[in-house]
Amino acid sequence: MRTTRLLLATLKETPADAEVISHQLMLRAGMIRKLAAGLYTWLPLGLRVLRKVEKIIREEMDQAGAQEVLMPAIQPAELWQESGRWEQYGPELLRLKDRHDREFCFGPTHEEIITDLIRREIRSYKQLPANFYQIQTKFRDEIRPRFGIMRAREFLMKDAYSFHLDQNSLQETYDLMYETYNRIFKRLGLKFRAVLADTGNIGGSRSHEFHVLAESGEDAIAYSTTGHYAANVEMVEAPPPLGERPKPTVAMALINTPNQQTIEQVSQFLKVKPSQCIKTLLVNGNKGLVALVLRGDQTLNIIKATKHPQIANPLTFAAPEQVKEVLGCNIGSLGPIGLTLPIIVDHSAAHLADFVCGANKDGQHLVGVNWGRDLPEPQVFDLRNVEAGDPSPDGQGILSIARGIEVGHIFQLGDKYSRAMQATILDEEGKAIILTMGCYGIGVSRIVAAAIEQNHDDQGIIWPSAIAPFNVALLPMNMHKSQRLRDATVNLYEQLQSAGIEVLFDDRKERPGVMFADMELIGIPHRLVLGERGLDKNEVEYKGRRDQESQTIPINEVIQFLQ
Ligand code: ATP
Ligand code: MG
Ligand code: MG
Ligand code: MG
Repeated sequence: MRTTRLLLATLKETPADAEVISHQLMLRAGMIRKLAAGLYTWLPLGLRVLRKVEKIIREEMDQAGAQEVLMPAIQPAELWQESGRWEQYGPELLRLKDRHDREFCFGPTHEEIITDLIRREIRSYKQLPANFYQIQTKFRDEIRPRFGIMRAREFLMKDAYSFHLDQNSLQETYDLMYETYNRIFKRLGLKFRAVLADTGNIGGSRSHEFHVLAESGEDAIAYSTTGHYAANVEMVEAPPPLGERPKPTVAMALINTPNQQTIEQVSQFLKVKPSQCIKTLLVNGNKGLVALVLRGDQTLNIIKATKHPQIANPLTFAAPEQVKEVLGCNIGSLGPIGLTLPIIVDHSAAHLADFVCGANKDGQHLVGVNWGRDLPEPQVFDLRNVEAGDPSPDGQGILSIARGIEVGHIFQLGDKYSRAMQATILDEEGKAIILTMGCYGIGVSRIVAAAIEQNHDDQGIIWPSAIAPFNVALLPMNMHKSQRLRDATVNLYEQLQSAGIEVLFDDRKERPGVMFADMELIGIPHRLVLGERGLDKNEVEYKGRRDQESQTIPINEVIQFLQ
């Protein structure tokens, strides 16, 4: 490819609204452009990277025996009503109506659609196990789309769904997908870690996330020094507080909020950080259930917050089973709180710590609750996030904490969808069995940003060579002034192309400084510079993107050198 034929839309200035380095560099390198909040156009250079990521994922999924399908992005509401998620999913689900007033959504994920397909298409146990995947556009109406394509609203996902007769078969495919994900992220050239994870909106029992390690990651992951244990910190139960650490407290509030509230909105008027509200849920449309994990001195904030005019008296309470039912699949991340006790926060409580700490549980601050009859006795949980240096839950070694970007997530769904949607199959004896399912996601577009977070310097992006838009940048110095240089460059360009090397030939009439800066910014791994003086000696100048110094190599050895 010649730069004069490429929409090379590089920018000198860092766009003001881009917070993280990958977002800044993707804009500056001319890889993406914003259309609206969370919606991006992929420019030619960016799309080349995206397609390479896709190709590696596709090859490895095929290799693992998965079959590629392509399902519609728009999904009928009926299927979501069948699974129960039409009610549960909340405002991240973009709902639409067609001209006949029929309800649809733009798929944030495809469990319902594939389950519907399989219950119709697969008849015999002999067709199992089977794993189907697609690489397709998803839409999630994220409350705060940010960091460019890292947390977009429209994004590209690889999602796979496997079907089984029993748990053993699911475990086998799950393990195979775990291995496959390891191979994918290795091939992509990224530093990553697989961790135990929560099952979130998707549901199921066992699950692992794959994180690309980067300082800017939104998740914290804990891993043991022995290397045997790794988990998203939201999964790790902290050991009792040590020594002088502030004593953390937990409050779960059932509050009455005017409209559907998201965690961010609730946390805003509670004046606590979203990361401190671990879950928020919608109960009957207008009552939010919020679990807050607060550290010692922050208890004061919630006392103020409960007096906020927008939070009315708590009107209802939930029994532990109701909490579990309401929390559904999210219960895992709540650990002991959700299972044991919802604490009702009364806005008139003089001192929240009184009832959070169990000191005052005579009902004085709690509306209409007979402890022990309506609810279990209040308990106080010493719950805090794990910290570096805490003992590892597996009893071996201590924990370190790193930041990660979630790029993949695999789940054992069990029969969550197949039971609700009656996806059954006849076994050997002709008996109808409810299918067992797994699902496996990868954030294809997010990987592109994650790779940049991990691989960049002051000059720009440094692509791992497996996903670089081009592998070699060919830069002639002032080519338009010399026919000889022009011929030699075109000649080398053609040789590189015939050797199957993806080369970007900078044939613009630009100053060398501009060409160097652009090629470094867009992150091409190898750079070849041709000049009059070098040609006299039949030499070109080579520099790897991470090299400090350039070196000269004979022009007729370039291909050999690069291979
Ligand atoms: P997150 O915790 O970042 O919101 P998630 O847990 O909601 O992600 P999953 O339902 O596990 O996401 O979806 C599978 C994968 O899709 C994720 O591991 C992630 O890589 C990617 N993904 C999810 N949401 C987005 C988004 N808004 N933009 C880009 N990629 C996303
Ligand atoms: Mg999400
Ligand atoms: Mg997640
Ligand atoms: Mg996830």
